[in-house]
Amino acid sequence: MSSVIATIPSRPMPLRLPRICVAVAGSSPAELLEKAEAVARDNPFIEFRLDYLKQPALALPRIKSFLGSHTYVAAIGTCRRAANGGKFKGSVAAEVDLLVKAGQAGCHLVDVELQSAQSMKAADFNKIRAHAGLVLSFHDFKSTKKLNETFATMQQYPADIFKVVGTATNLYDNVTMMKFLEQQSHDHKMVGICMGEQGLISRVLGLRAGSMFTFGALSPGEETAPGQVTAKELRDAYRIENVDAATRVYGVAGDPVEHSLSPQMMNAAFRRENLNSVYLALHAKNVDDLVKCVRDIPMHGLSITMPFKQEILEHLDNCEPLCQKAGACNTVIRSADGKLYGFNTDVAGITRPLEARLHLVNARILVLGAGGAGRAAVFGLRERGAQVFILNRTPQTAQKLARESGAKTVRRDDLKKMEFDVIINATPVGMGGNGKSVIDEKEMNARLAFDLVYNPIETRFLQIARAKGMAVVSGVEMFVHQGARQFEIWTGKPAPLNEMHQVVLAELQNRWGKPPASPNGRELKPEPKPEPAPTPKVEVKAAPAKPTAKVVAKPAPKPAKKAAKKAKR
Ligand code: NAP
Repeated sequence: MSSVIATIPSRPMPLRLPRICVAVAGSSPAELLEKAEAVARDNPFIEFRLDYLKQPALALPRIKSFLGSHTYVAAIGTCRRAANGGKFKGSVAAEVDLLVKAGQAGCHLVDVELQSAQSMKAADFNKIRAHAGLVLSFHDFKSTKKLNETFATMQQYPADIFKVVGTATNLYDNVTMMKFLEQQSHDHKMVGICMGEQGLISRVLGLRAGSMFTFGALSPGEETAPGQVTAKELRDAYRIENVDAATRVYGVAGDPVEHSLSPQMMNAAFRRENLNSVYLALHAKNVDDLVKCVRDIPMHGLSITMPFKQEILEHLDNCEPLCQKAGACNTVIRSADGKLYGFNTDVAGITRPLEARLHLVNARILVLGAGGAGRAAVFGLRERGAQVFILNRTPQTAQKLARESGAKTVRRDDLKKMEFDVIINATPVGMGGNGKSVIDEKEMNARLAFDLVYNPIETRFLQIARAKGMAVVSGVEMFVHQGARQFEIWTGKPAPLNEMHQVVLAELQNRWGKPPASPNGRELKPEPKPEPAPTPKVEVKAAPAKPTAKVVAKPAPKPAKKAAKKAKR
């Protein structure tokens, strides 16, 4: 390292730092230390954000006493100036003074922003490093550019760790950051992260590229940088302590993707099966960016969600015939030779829950909607020998799909007179708990209703069906089964279906604030073995008949006031 400033070496640091540093901020010294106390139980590495305090110096005696009694905790003291993205309004000299005192109070490391370093004198570095290791940091709040140029400037100053933070404006920025880390971490102690929602890849995978540690928030809402995830999530969902060169990387790609339940569900499945794999939410702005990342990270598999299910087809080397027929792919696997293969597991997400309840050969099934999910339903059910009827808001789309698949179309006016074994809602009507159903009570004449919408779990469509004595299947089952099929394709192992189901129900409960209502009981049936049968077990009768043993209805959950309120907001 060539430094323009001669300095003394810093105080020795802990031999091995934990992988997650939890950034802690408080509005008073008491609150700061209260939080540190809570963090220390699970996480022995804390960054004290002194700049969030009105009078940072008042916290130092408490930090000293805390570190004295928690000798296993490693600590960073940070007092970032407002001009550099922090909250400290004082001068560089005042910052230096506080950081020296933070070192004296026992912080093993202190953070100095490059801009502050540029106005510091050699004596300032010496004073700081007499007590603590110096983390020289640089934050770019707009982009991840010119990393090598920035690093060349940083190397002119003495530091024990170099921390380079960019902002991901696309997914590939993470790859840029990780390549930079791979290059520099051989010769220097480095920390590298991309901020922003698109920077998640670097937060989880940066460690295996050479970042010494990463940062986590104490709890949601307490992030000290854009895109920071909680330490708990890093530990429990992404199992960051285990991420290494052999970890297989998967993700769900969409725009937007932050509300996807797939990361919770798939990471739980990987954890349950003890697989060294991690699954990330990938907020992609375009497919080219995504495909470049898949090849360069490399990633082993992708779940594809809106709006890329069609566009991804052009980028695949091959795909299963159902993908072509449905015109959409929701699953990609990258083979050892780098080729991308596509699947449509939405089909299994629809057929598997039905096969667990009735024989599909010759079953009369009405599909409402002819978009992506509707097409998956129609082709999947036709392939299994069902008689499929389509009703869509735009009749021409239904007619085209019927021609392609060998299904029939129906007119809405005829619905009251028609009966089916199953009616599937493949439209978004009812999403967000808006109390709407795509068809009304008189038009719903079937044994079983399957709503592909899963938020809320109990839609108006299902409430009507249940009130009529029909069996019901919620979109949660589709979601879990499509994910289970992805798991099988990627790993070659059976998916832990019940674990996945429970995680999704719990997450929906978190978000909707009501007890999970699984219309079909707590346990999902395992992958059914369809028996060849010429006719469906569920017979069509003049009036809606009582459910047979195969089609089981459960009592409706109580109305969820909180959820409805939430949806209105
Ligand atoms: P899509 O491609 O946009 O298709 C939407 C379909 O619904 C179209 O046929 C559209 O008719 C129809 N539609 C839209 N608004 C309507 C309205 N107000 N009244 C009547 N029909 C309407 O969407 P998609 O990908 O098929 O998804 C449909 C729904 O399925 C989603 O909202 C989601 O809740 C659910 N889904 C669930 C899962 C799961 O895992 N559970 C997976 C995928 C999808 P037009 O042709 O007239 O526009």
